[in-house]
Amino acid sequence: MKKIYLYGNWKMNLNRGETESFFGDFARELASSQALVAAMGKTLEVAVFPPFTSLAAAGGAIGKMKGATPILGAQNAYFEPKGAFTGEVSLPMLKDAGCTHVILGHSERRAVFGEGDELIAKKLRAALNAGFIPVFCYGETLEEREADKTFDVVSRQLRAALAGLSALETEKIVYAYEPVWAIGTGKSATSAEAQEVCALSKKLVQEQTGRSASLVVLYGGSVKPDNARELLSMDAIDGALVGGASLKADSFLQIYKAYAGI
Ligand code: PEP
Repeated sequence: MKKIYLYGNWKMNLNRGETESFFGDFARELASSQALVAAMGKTLEVAVFPPFTSLAAAGGAIGKMKGATPILGAQNAYFEPKGAFTGEVSLPMLKDAGCTHVILGHSERRAVFGEGDELIAKKLRAALNAGFIPVFCYGETLEEREADKTFDVVSRQLRAALAGLSALETEKIVYAYEPVWAIGTGKSATSAEAQEVCALSKKLVQEQTGRSASLVVLYGGSVKPDNARELLSMDAIDGALVGGASLKADSFLQIYKAYAGI
């Protein structure tokens, strides 16, 4: 039975108090759902990616939870370990805050903050060297899809990110295919569209490593309780990176239940 991944990217939302109340509801419900999931022999990995200022509150709440506790991750990091980089946060700092995962290459970092393939590749290498699991995001814009360039764009982004990495490093990454036109728009890719690019991603990475090891590829872009199950039913999709619907414990739990089939 394949392991299922449910990751929540909170973006610039939920302050400390809101984080505490999120976990108040989430922890109670998750514990009872987890018991059902375990009885069904399923494995569901949950991770949350709060903003930097809420990491301590999230870590504290996770520390009090029982059972398989959610993973704590950050939404970005700089590749240098420390120094004169005003406004940046390093990977050792994130490790110190309890993070094991870090999102890199998110389309909002690329579009709003001008991060390019080269910078993202540096961050990816630094994250792997620091022992993190990077959640590497990539995907095409609407313009690129309409111009039939999806495969070219995705191939370029993947090749640029993976250049120089060993096969083992490449297999540690969690890949998140997130078509830009589906992020925060309420308009998800169809399951067939998502399947096609997630399958292509696996093929590209496997060609690059020359190995057929299994890879984790998530789909992200307007995943909600009512489309989660359908997207997950596709064999190349291992789970979801969820933005808006991960901000409320209730909708995040509904996606968890849809994934678990409970
Ligand atoms: C995201 O930001 O990674 C994302 C997928 O957002 P949303 O689910 O809101 O589309």
